[in-house]
Amino acid sequence: MSLNANIPSGPLAEKWDKHKFDLKLVNPANKRRFSMIVVGSGLAGASAAATLAELGYGVKCFCFQDSPRRAHSIAAQGGINAAKNYPNDGDSIQRLFYDTIKGGDFRSREANVYRLAQISNQIIDQCAAQGVPFAREYGGLLENRSFGGALVSRTFYARGQTGQQLLLGAYQALERQIGLKTVQMFPRTEMLDLVMVDGQTRGIVTRNLLTGRVESHAADAVVLATGGYGNAFYLSTNAIGCNATAIFRAYKKGAFFANPCYTQIHPTCIPVSGDHQSKLTLMSESLRNDGRVWVPKRKGDPRSPDQIPEADRDYYLERKYPTYGNLAPRDIASRAAKQVCDEGRGVGPGGRGVYLDFTEAIERLGKSGVCERYGNLFDMYQRITGEDPYQFPMRIYPAMHYTMGGLWVDYNLMSNLPGLYVIGEANFSDHGANRLGASALMQGLADGYFILPYTLSDALARAGQTKITTDHPEFKKAEKDVQNRLQKFLSIKGKRTVKSFHRELGTLLWENCGMSRNAAGLRKALARIPEIRAEFWRNVNVLGEKEELNQTLEKAGRVADFLEFGELLVQDALHRSESCGGHFREESQTDEGEAKRDDANFSYVAAWEHAGDGKPAVLHKEPLTFDAVQLAARSYK
Ligand SMILES: Cc1cc2nc3c(=O)[nH]c(=O)nc-3n(C[C@H](O)[C@H](O)[C@H](O)COP(=O)(O)OP(=O)(O)OC[C@H]3O[C@@H](n4cnc5c(N)ncnc54)[C@H](O)[C@@H]3O)c2cc1C
Repeated sequence: MSLNANIPSGPLAEKWDKHKFDLKLVNPANKRRFSMIVVGSGLAGASAAATLAELGYGVKCFCFQDSPRRAHSIAAQGGINAAKNYPNDGDSIQRLFYDTIKGGDFRSREANVYRLAQISNQIIDQCAAQGVPFAREYGGLLENRSFGGALVSRTFYARGQTGQQLLLGAYQALERQIGLKTVQMFPRTEMLDLVMVDGQTRGIVTRNLLTGRVESHAADAVVLATGGYGNAFYLSTNAIGCNATAIFRAYKKGAFFANPCYTQIHPTCIPVSGDHQSKLTLMSESLRNDGRVWVPKRKGDPRSPDQIPEADRDYYLERKYPTYGNLAPRDIASRAAKQVCDEGRGVGPGGRGVYLDFTEAIERLGKSGVCERYGNLFDMYQRITGEDPYQFPMRIYPAMHYTMGGLWVDYNLMSNLPGLYVIGEANFSDHGANRLGASALMQGLADGYFILPYTLSDALARAGQTKITTDHPEFKKAEKDVQNRLQKFLSIKGKRTVKSFHRELGTLLWENCGMSRNAAGLRKALARIPEIRAEFWRNVNVLGEKEELNQTLEKAGRVADFLEFGELLVQDALHRSESCGGHFREESQTDEGEAKRDDANFSYVAAWEHAGDGKPAVLHKEPLTFDAVQLAARSYK
C-alpha cells in the first residue's frame, strides 16, 4: 500500500497558502452542528480545542489530569523557536527550515517543515497577544537565545518556564470556551479505545478515573493530542503519567505507527542516582549557552572539579565541534557524553556524568546575571542534588526525553483512518530522526492554533455531518472490550507489581535500544519482551476495584500497552540498519564514530500496520523526496 501524504503541488514556499485557499470552508452557521473530540489538553490539545471552539464547533476535550493546566507541556523549560530574526543575526524562514531538516538528519518531510518555519512567526504574535510573558530586552522587544543545532538566536523564552507560560496562555483561551459552553471539559478521564464505524472514526470510549465509569462519546472527528511515549523507557524526563495508550489503541484499530524507533535522548539531565527513582529531571539545553561541558582528561581523576586545572580538562564538545561547540545538537552531544563516560572519564557516582560548568559565565555576567537567566533551573538542581551549582559545576548525563515517532499523519495532520487527526508530540510529522531544541512547542502550537483548524474544516465540509450516536453496536462492543480488559487486570492476582514490569521493560529498552543500538542487542530485546509480557498477564498484581479511583489499575493499562509497543519500537530499530539522528546503529558509523546515514536504502518514513495480535506488524514506506535541500552528511564541526 502506498501512503499518500497529500502534499500540495507548487513551489515549497507557496504550498501552504495555496492549500489553505483550496481547502473547503464550513459555513459559520453550520459549524455548531459539527462535534469534535480532542483528547489531550497540553499545548497541542488546548490550542486546538480553544481554536476549534472559537470557530464555532462543539468540542469535547479530555485529559487524565485534574486540570488541563497540569498537562505535561507545563514542564518545558528552555523556549520556543521562531524565525523572527529580531537579533538581526541572519535568521529567516529558509534558515529555520534548513536547520530543522538538517537537525532531523534528512528524515522529515520538506513541505511540513517549511510550513512549520512559516507558521513559527504567527505563534509568537499569538502568544504575546495572549499575554505570555516572554523575556524582553531593555528596549522592550522580545529577547532571543540560542539552542542546539543553530548558529542564530531564535529561541523565545520565559526564564526556564516557557512551557508553563505558553500553557497558561492556551489554557486561558480554553477556559474562555469552557465558560462559553462551546467546550465541554472532561478532566480525570482517560481514553481507552477508539471507535470506528464502516472505516470512519466515530468516537472514543473513556473511563472516569474517579468513579471508574466507562462511557462512549461520538463525534464528527477525533483529534489525538496525547503527547509522547518516552515513558516506555521507564526512566525519562517525562511526567510520570505520560503514556502511549491513546495512540497505541488507535494503532490497534488500524492507524499506522510511524518511526517508533526515533526517540530523543537529551544530553543535559541530572544523572540517575539510584534505583529508587521513577523519573529523571532535565536541565534545559539553554544552559549550554553559557555553561561549558567538560570531563577530566585523565581516566578516574579523583580530584574535585575546582582542583582540576584547565590543562587537565577536556572540553570535548568544543574540541570536537569547534563551530557549534557546546550547542551541538542533542543526539550528537548525548553520544559524545556517553563516549567519554565509556572511556572511564565520567564524573560523579558510577562515572555516568559530565560537568556543565558556569565558572566562566559567573565571572563574565556575575552571579546575579546568571541567576537572572537560569535562576529557577539552578534552584531546581540544588533542591534535587543538594549541590550548589553556583559553587561547583552541575553534573549531567543523557536521558530519554522526547519521541519523534508517533501516529502517521498526512499534510493535513490526518492519520490513515478517515476522521482521526493526530497533533503535537503524538504524531510523527515534523522532526525526522532528531528534534532540535525548542521545536516541539513550536510544532504543537502550529498544529493546534494554525493547521488543524483549516484542514479539519475541509474534511467536515466534504464529509457532512455524522448521524451515528453512541447507541451504535460498535460503541457497545468497544465499551465491553474495555470493561473486559479492566476486569482481566484485576483478576490475575499475581505476585509482581505493575511498576516492576515497567522497570524491567524500560531497562531492557534503554540498554538495547537507547543511545546506541546494534543488531544483536535489538534481537535480544525482541526475544525478551514477549516473555516479560507473558509473565505480566500471568503474574501481575492489581489491587482494588474498577469502579473507584484506582491508580494501579490505570498504570496496568498503560504498562500493558508499553509492553506491546516496546516490541514495535525495537522491530523498527532493527529493520533500520542505518544510523540517523537519535537512532544510532553501531554497525553504521563513520571512521570518526559519527552517525552514517544510508539514503539509498532508508530515505523513507517507516509506517507500521497492526496485523493482528501475535503477528508481526507490516511495514509500509512513505518515500521522502528532497527538492529544496541537498542531502548531505550532517556535520556540526
Ligand atoms: C522536561 C521537559 C522539558 C522540555 N522543554 C522543552 C522546551 O523548552 N522547548 C520545546 O519545544 N519542547 C520542550 N519539551 C518537549 C515538549 O514539552 C513536549 O513535546 C510538548 O509539551 C508536548 O505537548 P503535547 O500537547 O503534544 O502533549 P502533552 O503536553 O504531553 O499533553 C498530553 C495531553 O494528553 C492527555 N492524555 C494523554 N493520554 C491520554 C488518554 N489516554 N486519555 C485522555 N487524555 C490523555 C494528557 O492528560 C495531556 O492533557 C520538553 C519536554 C520535557 C519532558
